[in-house]
Amino acid sequence: MKPEFIYFDLDNTLLDHTSAEKEAQTAIYHTYPELQTVPLDEWLQAYKMLNHRLWIQYQKGEIDRHLLQKTRFKGSMEQLGIDSSRSEEIGTNYMMQYRNYWDWLDGARDALISIRKQYPVGIITNGFSETQQKKIEFMGLKEFCDIFIISEEVGVMKPHQKVFDVATEKAGVDRSEILYVGDSYSSDIVGGRQAGWKTAWYTAFSNAAEQNGKAGADFSFEEFPDLVTYLTA
Ligand SMILES: [Mg+2]
Repeated sequence: MKPEFIYFDLDNTLLDHTSAEKEAQTAIYHTYPELQTVPLDEWLQAYKMLNHRLWIQYQKGEIDRHLLQKTRFKGSMEQLGIDSSRSEEIGTNYMMQYRNYWDWLDGARDALISIRKQYPVGIITNGFSETQQKKIEFMGLKEFCDIFIISEEVGVMKPHQKVFDVATEKAGVDRSEILYVGDSYSSDIVGGRQAGWKTAWYTAFSNAAEQNGKAGADFSFEEFPDLVTYLTA
């Protein structure tokens, strides 16, 4: 059965967040000599691990956005024994650099254009309102999508069911007629399934071990043309 409404996740589903993060971190690393006291890989690993832990705390509502943005640099630097006196400036500079490296994932824009011809489309994204709004603008998504739901504006993050309830209400169709396309198994696929939606899992960012035993998505794809065929053939 074909869906009546399709929601897409944004980061690592339409926009290549992972590459933008890596490019921006590399630029920051080469700008601030104090970071260069450890190898780039070590810096990236420490930052990504702490950032991930802080996002989980943010997701649970234990910390706010300001503390997350502040602590992910300061904490990583302290942990590696790097002088952290410029951590706030580095964090701000990182957000500016991050924006410079935004780009669509391969095939995502063409897929959205094709799918848009047959379905109403919306976006549901976890993230900071200001940043996500800028991404929506940069990608020209208002041309393709009717509904935008940003977790910070709802007050909770995916997979919290409130996000999916708000999205269902806005789509104006039955739960079972909505398809959610996303890369995160825990946020998008589990969250969508719990909401009674259909799900399509974009697996380009998960390895075989992560995919192993995780059944439950109605459709899985690694390349966007496969999603287009699934929905429009
Ligand atoms: Mg994502």
